[in-house]
Amino acid sequence: MKKIFFVTIVLGVITLCIAQMNTTISTSLIDTTLNENENIYLNNQAEALLNQANTILSKYSPAWPEPEARQSALLLLDGVFHDVYAPHRPPVQFFLKTRIQKAADEIEQTNIKNGAQIWKLYNHGFIVRTKSVTIGFDLISGKSAGIEGFFIENNNMQRLINQCDVLFVSHYHNDHAEEWVAQKFIDQGKPVVSPSDVWKGSSIYKHITHLKRESHTLQKLPVQGGKKELKVVVYPGHQGKDVLNNVYLVITPEELSFSQMGDQYYDGDFEWIDEVGNNHDVDVLLPNCWTNNIVRVSKGFNPALIITGHENEMGHTIDHREPYWLSYQRRKGSDRFGGSIDAGYEIPLILMTWGESFHYKRGKFINH
Ligand SMILES: [Zn+2]
Ligand SMILES: [Zn+2]
Repeated sequence: MKKIFFVTIVLGVITLCIAQMNTTISTSLIDTTLNENENIYLNNQAEALLNQANTILSKYSPAWPEPEARQSALLLLDGVFHDVYAPHRPPVQFFLKTRIQKAADEIEQTNIKNGAQIWKLYNHGFIVRTKSVTIGFDLISGKSAGIEGFFIENNNMQRLINQCDVLFVSHYHNDHAEEWVAQKFIDQGKPVVSPSDVWKGSSIYKHITHLKRESHTLQKLPVQGGKKELKVVVYPGHQGKDVLNNVYLVITPEELSFSQMGDQYYDGDFEWIDEVGNNHDVDVLLPNCWTNNIVRVSKGFNPALIITGHENEMGHTIDHREPYWLSYQRRKGSDRFGGSIDAGYEIPLILMTWGESFHYKRGKFINH
């Protein structure tokens, strides 16, 4: 009896000590339906799982065929990021910020001899660098999540902006467009291209480049103060019937082509989507992972490679914080967001998380 009493006391003291240690990590009730220890537990678990994902992802870079271990790491991220309160949790904030900082370090140090390096940033943001140009798509700091501690710091956003020659903005939603980011491009004399309804009424509006939304038509866009020129098609896309969503096809001076689809989701647009590949060679398609009928989209564009974006956007409720596992399923065949469980697509798919990059070289993939 005495022994049990003694053990109980010792255990009690240990528990108190651990509780005190943990209290120094976090005292806030991030999820108010849980008590403090439960919140601390979820913070610690997020840290452990994200550390493990980082270890795997740093060992196995994005590649095709995909190393199996990468899939496990990305599914770990789905698990952590589908906690409703994920963007409030310090390890998640740290994961995003350190990955973007590392990407900025890399971009500053990377010269391309051939092909293109494609960095995935937050949400649907991408930076594509070839030998002669660097293109930014939908670069944002994560303010769409609405949680201050989660935003990418201004100095790291500025470092990304400094590396780009141009910014393409797909549409006005704040998980794709940030006026602060656009203004920094304008301040540096770099073009910002967007649909005509973005930042209307704001002082920045007159500085924005509005190209014609016209299927298959190539338009010229000078960059680097006119030293280089991009060819651009602005496909007249939509998110639903009413939101203008520019789907850019950008062709670099090396004749490499990249298409970022913003939040493309509208049945009526298959009229042009079905014909893209018949009009232009597409090297890399960067669709929103939840775009309408990705199998039909992949047939229409017929790209050499697909790299999806928009997974785990923290501004969305968890039912639309789209997971990596769904992108795997949609490639095999799924009726989620259009399509059917009987028909998938064969085009290689590279899935990446924030800050990762992939080197694309034409001819390396099956159909180009
Ligand atoms: Zn949108
Ligand atoms: Zn979006």
